[in-house]
Amino acid sequence: MKKYLFAPGPTPIPPEVIQSMSDAVVHHRAPDFLPILEEVREGLKWIFQCNNEVLIFASSGTGAMEGAVTNTLSRGDRALVVRGGKFGERWTGICQAYGVEAKNIDVPWGEAVDPSEIKKALQADPGIKAVLFQASETSTGVAHPVKEIAGIVRNYENTLCILDAITGIGVFDIPMDKWGIDIVVGGSQKALMLPAGLAFAAVSDKAWKFVSKSNLPKYYFNFNKELKNLQKNQTAYTPAVTLILGLRQSLRMLRAEGLEGIFARHETLASATRAAVKAMGLELFAKSPSNAVTAVNAPQGVDGQKIVKGLRDKFKITIAGGQDKLKGKIFRIAHLGFYDRFDIIMILSAIESVLKDLGFNVPPGKGADAAQKILDGVQKPAVCEIK
Ligand SMILES: *Cc1c(COP(=O)(O)O)cnc(C)c1O
Repeated sequence: MKKYLFAPGPTPIPPEVIQSMSDAVVHHRAPDFLPILEEVREGLKWIFQCNNEVLIFASSGTGAMEGAVTNTLSRGDRALVVRGGKFGERWTGICQAYGVEAKNIDVPWGEAVDPSEIKKALQADPGIKAVLFQASETSTGVAHPVKEIAGIVRNYENTLCILDAITGIGVFDIPMDKWGIDIVVGGSQKALMLPAGLAFAAVSDKAWKFVSKSNLPKYYFNFNKELKNLQKNQTAYTPAVTLILGLRQSLRMLRAEGLEGIFARHETLASATRAAVKAMGLELFAKSPSNAVTAVNAPQGVDGQKIVKGLRDKFKITIAGGQDKLKGKIFRIAHLGFYDRFDIIMILSAIESVLKDLGFNVPPGKGADAAQKILDGVQKPAVCEIK
């Protein structure tokens, strides 16, 4: 049976990318590797929209999140954390692990943070060294207001704006340099259409000044060491050569599409999914939905976990359920990375089928019909959904 991935990471991988990773392994200190790394470094600057080097680590995305904290902050520093889901909680956990005091802005799950909360917190305590948040809080399907937050933090010379954009990079527009974001973290297994195993950190000039003062322990995730090597077109340790070959290919494909094309594709697929879900009589969970993933409330009387299980058992489709307090309450459909219009139609039709099995009747094709109108450009996305 054919298998399908519709979870917000890992996501499907294009055949060209799989093929590019099946070559014989190149030695990372051999001349053959030099043009590969060089092209990838350029490509990363392009997709992160920054002039500085983008650091590359062999880890899951969390490694670069941890590095962002351990390379810029010091013991006893205070950091403001937007905590509105599992990934916001991760920032808090990393801070606590290293003796950084996390001051949490608790946002109800499903809502975006109000930027004025950040403004107030920084006014009350200008000694806060960093604001840590997500571009897209994958656990709730929420997009936080990145531009507004960056605009506030950039007025504070001694505060960094540190963004987990693991489900934002390659999905929607995050012009790092233009908006003055200090660290942008990315990961390979989301919109970059690769397996898990690469983490990225783009670091601003302002953040590099913090790096020279930071006293937290670090060894593998040492930003300075990685930068010095990248500037010589090397990496400090053995890079994940095979994944970097894949990354070169996925970046070529993304470049051919162009940033605007990439963002428009995600906007269209996400809008179509949201319209379809509503047409099916379901409700969106996120009040400010991200174009990376659509979180949907399980209909009354239906256990969301059963929808996830039904899709897996019946169709070998993997979607994501809700985590923690959202377990059984929501399900999440990913549309970041290697997806096209027919993938969306397919997942909608599969969900209709499983909902029917669980006693929630949707007239067949209702979701696909609504989605198609948006995919065909016949109907514009609802105004409130245009960010
Ligand atoms: C996937 C993801 C991460 C990284 O998780 P890893 O399992 O460490 O790769 C971090 N933040 C967000 C918002 C994510 O979606």
